[in-house]
Amino acid sequence: MVTFVQKLSAAAEAIGLSFDQGRNVLYGTFNGYSFAVPQAPSNARYCLINFYVTHDGSPLSASEGKQIAKESNKLVEFFKPSAAPSVSFMVKLEKDEAAAAQKILDALTYLSETFASRGYVNTCERCHQPLETEPCAVGNGLKFFCPDCFESVSANISDKAQAEADTPENVVAGIVGALGGALLGALVVVIMGQLGYVSALSGLVAAICALKGYELLAKKMSVKGAIIACVAMLVMLYVGHRANVAIEVLKAFREIGETDLDFFTVFRAIPALVKSDSELMGEYLKELFMVYLFALLGAVPTIIKSIKGQKTKYTVQKLN
Ligand SMILES: [Zn+2]
Repeated sequence: MVTFVQKLSAAAEAIGLSFDQGRNVLYGTFNGYSFAVPQAPSNARYCLINFYVTHDGSPLSASEGKQIAKESNKLVEFFKPSAAPSVSFMVKLEKDEAAAAQKILDALTYLSETFASRGYVNTCERCHQPLETEPCAVGNGLKFFCPDCFESVSANISDKAQAEADTPENVVAGIVGALGGALLGALVVVIMGQLGYVSALSGLVAAICALKGYELLAKKMSVKGAIIACVAMLVMLYVGHRANVAIEVLKAFREIGETDLDFFTVFRAIPALVKSDSELMGEYLKELFMVYLFALLGAVPTIIKSIKGQKTKYTVQKLN
């Protein structure tokens, strides 16, 4: 099975273009038109080809895009209208690498020649001026900017990065935010538990909410913040699980006609109750272990992504 990345890497090599490993996108300039080739959303067998063009300041209309696709003899399909001046076509990739590369080359040739014959020129994504553009990595995205736009975006972003660097991290408020967020995760544990599930979903919810909660109140995100969010998540998941067990115990008491007990009394009594019975202890710890295991499965990728995202948030650089 040839993967999308292998197909695009092969195409990049065959056509002499660049392939960005991190963003999984083939990009470059073809006959004077800048373009990017990412995977089509939710379909690994198709790629998109994005161009940035205007004609006398007007973007390409959807009807003209459809017309161009129709005249291509099924080489390209028009992809739903995108934000001007970006225009996207879809190309179905062959199973083997060489044929996929040839298909991309054919599509690039057809589209660039068609744009030229219809009077469309390459356009900057930001200022919409008909200028030559260069591929730039902006945060986690790929943009095509003219030199002036590149300069102003770099300056803007470094201002923002500076402003963020100058903002003090309010750790105490962050802890409150992380605990509040993680509490939502604990609620999911209780709800899912009452429905009879232990799921990774609760861990994921707890991780996302704890991280967001921290960032919102601390006013910035850091590795310290991620660790605090993690601890908040572990504490709140413990509380959620214990609440779940307390509900179960309370239900059992109600069944035998004992109605004097309230939730908080039972909740407080859980550790003593569990300690008194080794079988119950085993069951309790096993369930808690499962809650944490699923939570880690959900949370670890989220936290890694969040920390990585922080690192690239303020990068602007020219590719090539
Ligand atoms: Zn520009």
